[in-house]
Amino acid sequence: QAKAAGRNTLRFFDPQMQAVVSARAALEAGLRDALAGDQLQLYYQPQVTGESEMTGVEALVRWLHPQRGMVSPAEFIPLAEDTGLILPLGHWVLETACRQLASWAGRPEMAHLTVAVNVSPRQFHQVDFVDQVLTLLERTGAKPQRLKLELTESLLVANIEDVIAKMTALKRVGVGFSLDDFGTGYSSLSHLKLLPLDQLKIDQGFVRDILTDPNDAAIARMVVALGDSLGLAVIAEGVETEAQREFLADQGCYAYQGYLFSRPLPIAEFESLAQSYVLQNKELLAPVK
Ligand code: C2E
Ligand code: MG
Ligand code: MG
Ligand code: MG
Repeated sequence: QAKAAGRNTLRFFDPQMQAVVSARAALEAGLRDALAGDQLQLYYQPQVTGESEMTGVEALVRWLHPQRGMVSPAEFIPLAEDTGLILPLGHWVLETACRQLASWAGRPEMAHLTVAVNVSPRQFHQVDFVDQVLTLLERTGAKPQRLKLELTESLLVANIEDVIAKMTALKRVGVGFSLDDFGTGYSSLSHLKLLPLDQLKIDQGFVRDILTDPNDAAIARMVVALGDSLGLAVIAEGVETEAQREFLADQGCYAYQGYLFSRPLPIAEFESLAQSYVLQNKELLAPVK
C-alpha cells in the first residue's frame, strides 16, 4: 500500500494521517472562533498553605467548544503554541486574570489572594512582553504584587540573559515568578540561581506516586531542599490525598494545590470556596470565651 501510494505523496493519501491533519485544522479554526467569540473561560484552583490558609490561586484556561464541550488545555495549548494563536490567547488570559485581581481588591475576603498565570515560552519571548504586562496592570488597576507568572524550564535553555532581563523588569514593579512543572525539564542548576524566582512548583508527576516510588520521593525532597537553599517557596501540584500532603509537609513543602483541596472551579464557585476558607480561619483566630 505504501509503495502504491508513492514516496512523495504517501502522507497525503494515508487516511489516518489525513484524519489527523484535518482534525488539527478543524481545531485550529475552532480556536480562532473561540478567541473571537466568548468560548474561553478561566477556572481557578486554590493554593493552600500548611496552615490551611488559601493564599493564592492558579488561573487555568478552559475552552467551551460549541460541539465538543470542554476541550482540555493539554490539547489546545500545544496547538496554540505551534500556530502562534498562543499570543492572543495568552494576552486574553493575562487580561482576564488582571481584571479578576482588580475586582477582588475591594473585597476583604478576596483581596489577599495572588493569581498565578501560565505563560508559554513563545508568549514570554515576544519583544514587548514586559510592556504588555505593564500596560495590562495599569489598564486594569491590578496590583502587580498579586500577579504571579508561571514559567516552565523550557524557557531557560536558550537566551537566558533576555529571560533574566524581562523577569527583572517585571520584578521591579512587584510581579512574582514561579517555575512550573519543576523537575521535568532540563534547566541547569547554575541557571536557576541566576533567575529572580519566588517559587518552585513540584510537578504533579512526582507527587502522584510519592508514597510508593522512592525515586519520586527523592526528587520531591531534593526540590524542597533546593528551594530552601535558594530562598524559594516550594509548592506541590497534583496533591490528591491527605497522605501525599502529609509526606510533602514532612519534607518542608510550603503550599499545595490539587484535588485534595479543590478542582479548578468556575469563578462563582471559586469565590464562595475562598470565602469559606476565610470564615474558617477567622473562627480559628477568634478569641475563645
Ligand atoms: P499546569 O500549569 O501544570 O497546571 C496543572 C494542571 O494539573 C491543570 O490541568 C490542573 O487542572 C491539573 N490538576 C490540578 N490538581 C490536580 C490533581 O490533584 N490531580 C490531577 N491529576 N491533576 C490536577 P489543566 O487545567 O488541564 O491544564 C493543563 C496544562 O495546560 C497546565 O499545566 C498548563 O501547562 C497549560 N495551561 C492551562 N492554562 C493555561 C494558560 O492560560 N496559558 C498557558 N500558556 N498554558 C495553560
Ligand atoms: Mg501552571
Ligand atoms: Mg504545573
Ligand atoms: Mg504540570
